[in-house]
Amino acid sequence: MKPVPEMIADNVMNTIIYNIPVSLIAGFRERIMIIRADDATAIVENVNDQDLGRISFIKLLSLKGEVSSLINWGQGIPVELIVSDTNRDLPLLYRYTPLLASHPVRVSVPLVAGFGNIVKLAVSLNFAVKLEGGQPDASLVDELQRIAHFYLHQTMVSEPIEFFHSLFLAFYRRNPVTLWAIQEEDPSLVRYITDSGEERMPGRLAGVEVNENFSAFMLDMQKGLAAEEGECAKCEFLIHCQGYFKWPHREYSCDGVRALMNTLRSAAEELRADVASFYSPGKSLRP
Ligand code: SF4
Repeated sequence: MKPVPEMIADNVMNTIIYNIPVSLIAGFRERIMIIRADDATAIVENVNDQDLGRISFIKLLSLKGEVSSLINWGQGIPVELIVSDTNRDLPLLYRYTPLLASHPVRVSVPLVAGFGNIVKLAVSLNFAVKLEGGQPDASLVDELQRIAHFYLHQTMVSEPIEFFHSLFLAFYRRNPVTLWAIQEEDPSLVRYITDSGEERMPGRLAGVEVNENFSAFMLDMQKGLAAEEGECAKCEFLIHCQGYFKWPHREYSCDGVRALMNTLRSAAEELRADVASFYSPGKSLRP
């Protein structure tokens, strides 16, 4: 599966993506959609061939449901599997390997103690991974560091582990993509439609009340962080983080997550230096 910002860029071209329950698809057929459902049957029964070109990806909210009907449906449409219990859902991942013949598959993993086990299994099964959660405690930061080293240094890791992958690319390419965008929680890119049809902020911002101007929320937050005297204003990662780890609790200490981002940035800079030296002027590429 492509890195999320590239996936979004391919699909939306500055258009909002709507994360909708499959039961409401009839009202969103003019939109770019993320379709969510408990199992594959609901997707196959409700999504028609004309919808396929407008689907960014589908989310299966439970790993216990039926899966086989997706194998010959919607060739190439990315599928995201939502893990809610890392122990219970770990063995269920094997059921989804046949999908890889016809779909990119990503596993969404919550940041809870021991999350690294399911990440490693997912990667070994050739699934991409997305890590979910914003204010990890010290033990989770340690586990994140271990998984970041696994992502950076294990040659068998061929699929992206987000948010590491897109952040690493942002450091390498020196482009200003933010964690809010990488994690699909930037309301100027993604909106969440509740099961009752209400439009809400995405991801961890779901409880934030906004009037009409969803996009202004992120701009206001960025201006506020830059102006105030807090940890973010002096942070070397502000351009990419934009206060992501200060949500929802401003008092959260970012020492651990800054060290994590530094690990990714150092690896990206090392790769830049290697590539630059390889292609330095006058250097013969012949052995
Ligand atoms: S890492 Fe923490 S201090 Fe730095 S920008 Fe992000 S939330 Fe703010």
